[in-house]
Amino acid sequence: MTDFVVVGAGPFGLTVARVLAERGLEVTVVERREQVGGNAYSSIDAETGIEIHNYGAHIFHTGNQRVWDFLSRFTTWTGYTHRVFTRHQGEVYPLPINLGTINQFFRAALSPTEARELIARDAERAASADGGGAGTTASAAGQTQTAGGLEAKAVAMIGRPLYEAFIRDYTAKQWQTPPDQLPGSVIGRLPVRYTYDSRYFSDPHQGLPTDGYAALWERLADHPRVNLVLGQDFLDGAGNWSKAACVGEVPVLFTGPVDRYFDYSAGRLGWRTLDFEWERPATGDFQGCAVMNYADLTDPWTRILEFRHFHPERDYPADRTVIAREFSRLASEADEPYYPINTPADRTRLESYRALAADQPGVWFGGRLGRYQYLDMDMAVAAALTLADKL
Ligand code: FAD
Ligand code: UDP
Repeated sequence: MTDFVVVGAGPFGLTVARVLAERGLEVTVVERREQVGGNAYSSIDAETGIEIHNYGAHIFHTGNQRVWDFLSRFTTWTGYTHRVFTRHQGEVYPLPINLGTINQFFRAALSPTEARELIARDAERAASADGGGAGTTASAAGQTQTAGGLEAKAVAMIGRPLYEAFIRDYTAKQWQTPPDQLPGSVIGRLPVRYTYDSRYFSDPHQGLPTDGYAALWERLADHPRVNLVLGQDFLDGAGNWSKAACVGEVPVLFTGPVDRYFDYSAGRLGWRTLDFEWERPATGDFQGCAVMNYADLTDPWTRILEFRHFHPERDYPADRTVIAREFSRLASEADEPYYPINTPADRTRLESYRALAADQPGVWFGGRLGRYQYLDMDMAVAAALTLADKL
């Protein structure tokens, strides 16, 4: 048989499988899809030869030395530094909000100190207009809402004019959830800088796998004691590698959706899904950068990805490119879950699932789906290494 079953061949599951296999255990990894890598998988576009990220743009970045050293055993990294731009009312601004964005937006030449003072004044003005951050505002969708959560945090960080230009409508398109019901941590992922540093991420380690993500995840899975079972849904009926056959017989790590594991007995956890509209324009450069955000409601997509810019070091065709327009919407049962929404009602349901999970001896729940948590790849790998230490 096997010593340990890992459900899900994403970064989390593969990391645990690899560490346990190196410790001498026979590990079986059961994956619903036909390939490994979870949502961090990439493939080569057959028409252009350009590497595309099938589940949305993925840029590796970390400040965690252990994670960097671990993954660097399976890949070298390019020197790619991620920079994002956003279109608002016919102009292009650098993101995340930095001194360049602020000066362009206010048609000014403020110093770092002057910009800090301006933003602090805007934030103070907004807080007193809102009665200390808990007033009502008109949302992008035209509804009146209580300010709080993401909106309160964003306005405190950047003031109301910048919030309304770059965050409010983009967030409405991305989440379609009142901003007071979204956790402030969603916007906390974006830094605000009072320098002209326009890197999207500040981590000391950043890059893309030189030979692509697919090669990285395949090498991570490639161990004589790791047995891969692809195209098998652990929660679908019977079979040797199903929940019915394994739980209670062999230790299991489950990295699929925790609510589905328990048959949605406490209700469905809310997820956002993404739709990608793929196109291959006949040009060597469609937009001049890998990711262009669209801040206004007049454009229904949130951003356009142009994959060739992730690998300027590669020899890609000069007359073709691949782009994907990204649209966000509420996930239904049949959709891939991408972002946990995390409303207060979701958190209550999650508590119920955590209690059920604690009652399943010999089953661990991990990863972004198993924990119902947004995790960057490095956080997923870090949490997996910590879990493997404990097992
Ligand atoms: P997943 O990658 O989701 O892997 C879970 C696996 O389990 C999947 O392969 C799934 O098919 C399988 N599975 C589920 N249920 C079952 C079942 N019942 N039976 C068998 N198999 C099952 N992170 C970054 O660091 N940088 C980025 O730039 C970045 N960009 C992102 C962009 C988008 C649009 C999104 C949504 C996420 C992004 N992330 C990024 C986060 C990254 O995708 C996650 O960190 C990573 O996917 C987490 O790995 P995981 O193993 O926990 O989950
Ligand atoms: N965000 C925004 N405008 C932007 C970019 C981001 O309002 O141009 C907000 C939005 O709510 C988003 C959050 O900031 O969900 C986090 O941004 P990030 O780029 O980390 O999101 P992701 O890439 O995961 O969609």
